[in-house]
Amino acid sequence: MTTPRGKLVLPDVYCRYAVSEGPLGRNGTLFTRQGKLMIRNAAHARDPRPVDDDCTCYACTRFSRGALRHLVMAGEMLGAQLATLHNLHFYLELMRRIRAGLADGTFPEGAAATAGAWA
Ligand SMILES: [Zn+2]
Repeated sequence: MTTPRGKLVLPDVYCRYAVSEGPLGRNGTLFTRQGKLMIRNAAHARDPRPVDDDCTCYACTRFSRGALRHLVMAGEMLGAQLATLHNLHFYLELMRRIRAGLADGTFPEGAAATAGAWA
């Protein structure tokens, strides 16, 4: 959103996730358009899907949820690195979508949908 002075003001939910995405990735919390995904949950142990079907990051294009969960649970540094890589990629894509939404006037609707999924 823009203010009368032309500055971008992000809803609180974006700011909270922006500063916490790296540490959360190391703990196995991943962000997707559908909301947070806790990769440590047993439900992902044999899941062949990527973390986020719409994500083009290195982790999502090369590793399944099951493989990523195994790496995180085993304490392998690669698991934390892939999780952080995904979260940073997600954050950059989110900012790109916000900029595009501001440019074409669809930002408030898209922001509300994303914030609702993360609640
Ligand atoms: Zn990804």
